[in-house]
Amino acid sequence: MARAVGPYRMATFLKDHNWDCEIIDYFEYWKPGYLEDYIKRKITSDTKWIGISYTWMVEKSEKVIALVSFIKSIRSDLLVIIGGQSPYYKDLGADYYIFGYAEYATLKVLDYEFGDGTLPFYTKLFNGRYIDALHNYPSHDLKDYSIRFQDNDFISDKDILTIAFSRGCKFKCDFCTFPFIGIKEDTSTSEEILYRELMENYQKWGVKNYYITDETLNDRTEKLIKIKNVIQRLDFQPNLTGFVRADLLKSHPEHMELLAESRVWGQYYGLETFCRDAGKSIGKGLHPDIVKENVLNIRDYFKKNLGLYRGSISMIAGLPYESLDSMRESQKWLEENWDDQFAFWYPLQILNAPNGVGALSAMGKDFSKYGYREMQDSEKVNRIKESALYDHEVTWENDHTNIFEVRKLIQEEFTFKFKLGGFVLWPLLPYIPFNKLMQVEYDDSKLNIEAAQPLTDRISRYINLKYKN
Ligand code: SF4
Repeated sequence: MARAVGPYRMATFLKDHNWDCEIIDYFEYWKPGYLEDYIKRKITSDTKWIGISYTWMVEKSEKVIALVSFIKSIRSDLLVIIGGQSPYYKDLGADYYIFGYAEYATLKVLDYEFGDGTLPFYTKLFNGRYIDALHNYPSHDLKDYSIRFQDNDFISDKDILTIAFSRGCKFKCDFCTFPFIGIKEDTSTSEEILYRELMENYQKWGVKNYYITDETLNDRTEKLIKIKNVIQRLDFQPNLTGFVRADLLKSHPEHMELLAESRVWGQYYGLETFCRDAGKSIGKGLHPDIVKENVLNIRDYFKKNLGLYRGSISMIAGLPYESLDSMRESQKWLEENWDDQFAFWYPLQILNAPNGVGALSAMGKDFSKYGYREMQDSEKVNRIKESALYDHEVTWENDHTNIFEVRKLIQEEFTFKFKLGGFVLWPLLPYIPFNKLMQVEYDDSKLNIEAAQPLTDRISRYINLKYKN
């Protein structure tokens, strides 16, 4: 788990616009009472607003609601702004809800609330104002996404920081719910900004390890060249991990070389399916045999040329035309050919947008076009609704299967197959040496990163230092 990128980026941006901000990170992990105590101490008569990042928090919305309610109980006039890339399905008690990259939108709100700015464009949402920063005050092409950490962020050399080279994805997959897709312009940052950020984090805090947040790291050759130039200028050797489109490494073999030279050796591929028809239906037309051969070649290339590699394949269960047996076949191939790496399955998720807020995938907009129907069988629907991550998921079925069956398949047959020395490889964590992984005792209660990586140590260290601050 990395630091929450959005708030740190926002604080950096606002600092450049004369706003002084403090970040409180890992808010879910604070011991009961500690966070509340800390917030109470920090809220003074000078405090004007509190922002909460909601990205990845949809399923934890009750915690956010409780937090907002606590903040308002201290000072009911304190402005609460919630922002992020996740849609808002519930009343969180905020004054503003911002959707999308939100630097300019937040500034606009603050100028209006505390300066002489005009009222931002908004629509009413629950008892607050909703700002669609996707279309109003867009901030996806700032060309500077850098973060400057402060002393009271308590960064250490154990931290794995996040870094953005660009924003948005130029592709447009039909199942993708990420709002910034089909972005044609080159939003990548400059070599100088990147260099400055990486060097500063190394010189000040000793940080060498990064998650790259770009939705598709290898979408442009020019960007990869920039990254390589920067990495090769550094005084240290970083370890980078990011989302890579494996098919582009085949059509652009030079990208593989550039990624190796840039030490991007943790790679996450959304392959989604090895079923030809399913692949074609979502715009991934490469023959499955070629897809498989390609990832094996990538693995070999990195092992041979860099000596470091951690590849994670993600698959989607329930794509059009794909049967359960076809998924089982794919899993078998993964187990036989990818067992030194990591792979995992997601059930296909088709989301509704009940308030009209948020972004829908092409499938979500018209799922019948892809052969899906809303399930009618009430018992099944109830069971699914109980286990669904989101209560706005479509309980879909098609001619081959349904959401219930694919969830069951993943849970009962596919989960926890990829272990190394009893450890489940964590997809975006290339930084634990394999020999260390091998020493980790298998612990069912801590099936992932926490079993091996001192993540809990990092979080506790941060919280302890912060609390004493
Ligand atoms: S799934 Fe990945 S490559 Fe496809 S549109 Fe979404 S972010 Fe882009």
